[in-house]
Amino acid sequence: MPPAIIQTKDFDITLVTHPRRVRVTLKVSAKGVFLYIPARLPMNIVHDLISEKSNWISQQLAKQPKPAPERQWQQAETLSLFGQTFELQLVQKSDSPTVTLANDALVLSGRLHRIAIRTRRQAIINWYKDQATIYLNKRTTELSEQTGLIPKSITVKTYKARWGSCNIKGEIQYNWQIIQALPTVIDYLIIHELCHLAHHNHSPVFWQLVERHHPEYRQDQAWLKQNGAALQL
Ligand SMILES: [Zn+2]
Repeated sequence: MPPAIIQTKDFDITLVTHPRRVRVTLKVSAKGVFLYIPARLPMNIVHDLISEKSNWISQQLAKQPKPAPERQWQQAETLSLFGQTFELQLVQKSDSPTVTLANDALVLSGRLHRIAIRTRRQAIINWYKDQATIYLNKRTTELSEQTGLIPKSITVKTYKARWGSCNIKGEIQYNWQIIQALPTVIDYLIIHELCHLAHHNHSPVFWQLVERHHPEYRQDQAWLKQNGAALQL
């Protein structure tokens, strides 16, 4: 029997039944809401259970990581920088692709009708990387002065699944994509990596040091967990 879907005002629930199942299990993930039930469980009990758990389910759904939006690199698509939203504006010009930041727009100009979508994407990514290199170097220097934690070098690069790293030699590497986040989240990342200069692990003393230099780290860490995937360009 294919799984049944129950629709509620706020979400859909997939019912998964199995003849030998004796317990009811509710699972909420980025893939959706799944209710595993014994095959003979009366439907009124299923509905009662769902309405009883409805608030909890909504809360869990709100906490799920947001996926990266599908980008086409077209006019009016939104991009973010330092937590602010910018609209992508495409301007035809007879020169090579150039990116500039206007008031509330990120302007990509060039021979746009002749360049591939991936070339547009690359031009924008290169621009982000340049901004990230300037900002992360400057901000790390400022926070180093405040904390006394001084890295040997700073490199900005592309990472698929991490935001930064700090090796035993004291070399810090950042994922440029972090500059799409709010400045406080970027500060959290910088402080996190700087604190690894003192503790090369995630022990309680490491987190105490992070908290001393960035007291609101828990909320920034949670934000990154939930929104990080959506910062993939
Ligand atoms: Zn770490």
